[in-house]
Amino acid sequence: MNRVQLSTAWNKRAACKGMDTNVFYPDPDTPDEEAEAAVAKAICASCSVREACLEYALAKREKEGIWGGMTERERRRILRQRRKSA
Ligand code: SF4
Repeated sequence: MNRVQLSTAWNKRAACKGMDTNVFYPDPDTPDEEAEAAVAKAICASCSVREACLEYALAKREKEGIWGGMTERERRRILRQRRKSA
C-alpha cells in the first residue's frame, strides 16, 4: 500500500504544545459544540502553525477535535467546498 506521509514538523511550534488535550476535544454530542470549542479556538487563533495544522487535519480526514481552529463539522464544510470548486 502506498500511503502519503504528511509532515508533522509544524507541531514543534504549536501553541497547544504541552496543554491539556481535553480542551481540543469537546463533546461532539453537546448541543452547542461551538461554544464548548471556544477556548481551543482562541488558542488556535494565536498559533503560528494554524494553517499547517488545519491542512494536516483535512488531509488526514481527522474525525474528532479542534484542528487549526476548526471543529470537525467546519472541516467537513471546507472539504465539501473544495470538492465543489475542484
Ligand atoms: S492550530 Fe490549534 S490545534 Fe493546531 S497546533 Fe495550533 S494550537 Fe494546536
